[in-house]
Amino acid sequence: MSSFRALPFRPRRQPDPDGVPLRVRSCRDLCEWTRTPVERRGEPLFACQGCGSQWVPSEHWTPRDSNGAVPPEVLEIVAAEP
Ligand SMILES: [Zn+2]
Repeated sequence: MSSFRALPFRPRRQPDPDGVPLRVRSCRDLCEWTRTPVERRGEPLFACQGCGSQWVPSEHWTPRDSNGAVPPEVLEIVAAEP
Protein backbone atom coordinates (compact mmCIF):
# COMPACT_ATOMS: atom_id res chain seq x y z
CA MET A 1 0.00 0.00 0.00
CA SER A 2 1.30 3.38 -0.92
CA SER A 3 -1.65 5.36 0.39
CA PHE A 4 0.46 7.21 2.88
CA ARG A 5 1.04 10.75 1.72
CA ALA A 6 2.93 13.33 3.60
CA LEU A 7 0.68 16.10 4.75
CA PRO A 8 1.64 19.53 3.49
CA PHE A 9 3.58 21.35 6.13
CA ARG A 10 1.90 24.55 7.12
CA PRO A 11 3.75 26.58 9.68
CA ARG A 12 1.44 27.72 12.43
CA ARG A 13 1.47 31.48 12.69
CA GLN A 14 2.18 32.85 16.07
CA PRO A 15 -1.02 34.48 17.31
CA ASP A 16 -0.66 38.23 17.46
CA PRO A 17 -2.20 39.32 20.75
CA ASP A 18 -3.19 42.66 19.23
CA GLY A 19 -5.02 40.98 16.38
CA VAL A 20 -7.12 38.60 18.42
CA PRO A 21 -10.66 39.90 18.98
CA LEU A 22 -11.77 40.40 22.54
CA ARG A 23 -14.04 37.83 24.01
CA VAL A 24 -17.32 39.39 25.03
CA ARG A 25 -19.96 37.25 26.64
CA SER A 26 -23.05 38.07 28.57
CA CYS A 27 -22.08 38.62 32.16
CA ARG A 28 -23.87 36.58 34.74
CA ASP A 29 -24.16 36.05 38.46
CA LEU A 30 -20.54 35.13 39.00
CA CYS A 31 -19.00 38.05 37.23
CA GLU A 32 -15.99 39.62 38.81
CA TRP A 33 -13.67 41.84 36.81
CA THR A 34 -9.98 41.89 37.46
CA ARG A 35 -7.10 43.59 35.77
CA THR A 36 -4.76 41.17 34.03
CA PRO A 37 -1.02 41.63 33.58
CA VAL A 38 -1.66 41.58 29.83
CA GLU A 39 -1.74 44.68 27.65
CA ARG A 40 -3.70 45.00 24.44
CA ARG A 41 -2.85 47.78 22.02
CA GLY A 42 -1.09 49.51 24.89
CA GLU A 43 -4.13 49.31 27.14
CA PRO A 44 -4.57 47.24 30.24
CA LEU A 45 -6.67 44.17 29.60
CA PHE A 46 -9.38 43.31 32.09
CA ALA A 47 -10.98 39.91 32.32
CA CYS A 48 -14.19 38.70 33.88
CA GLN A 49 -13.65 35.72 36.15
CA GLY A 50 -17.29 34.74 35.83
CA CYS A 51 -17.96 34.53 32.12
CA GLY A 52 -14.56 34.98 30.49
CA SER A 53 -15.33 38.33 28.85
CA GLN A 54 -12.49 40.72 28.19
CA TRP A 55 -12.41 44.49 28.24
CA VAL A 56 -10.03 47.31 27.45
CA PRO A 57 -10.68 50.99 28.25
CA SER A 58 -11.30 51.89 24.60
CA GLU A 59 -14.35 49.62 24.48
CA HIS A 60 -17.62 51.53 24.38
CA TRP A 61 -19.13 49.74 27.32
CA THR A 62 -18.33 49.48 30.97
CA PRO A 63 -17.94 46.15 32.68
CA ARG A 64 -19.83 45.55 35.89
CA ASP A 65 -19.47 42.99 38.62
CA SER A 66 -22.31 40.68 39.50
CA ASN A 67 -23.49 43.12 42.16
CA GLY A 68 -23.93 45.83 39.54
CA ALA A 69 -20.97 47.89 40.67
CA VAL A 70 -18.26 49.05 38.33
CA PRO A 71 -14.97 47.62 39.60
CA PRO A 72 -12.86 50.37 41.23
CA GLU A 73 -9.93 49.87 38.87
CA VAL A 74 -12.25 50.21 35.88
CA LEU A 75 -14.01 53.21 37.38
CA GLU A 76 -10.67 54.89 37.88
CA ILE A 77 -9.82 54.55 34.19
CA VAL A 78 -13.28 55.46 32.90
CA ALA A 79 -13.45 58.52 35.15
CA ALA A 80 -10.05 59.70 33.97
CA GLU A 81 -11.14 59.72 30.33
CA PRO A 82 -12.19 63.05 28.83
ZN1 LIG B 1 -18.76 38.46 33.14
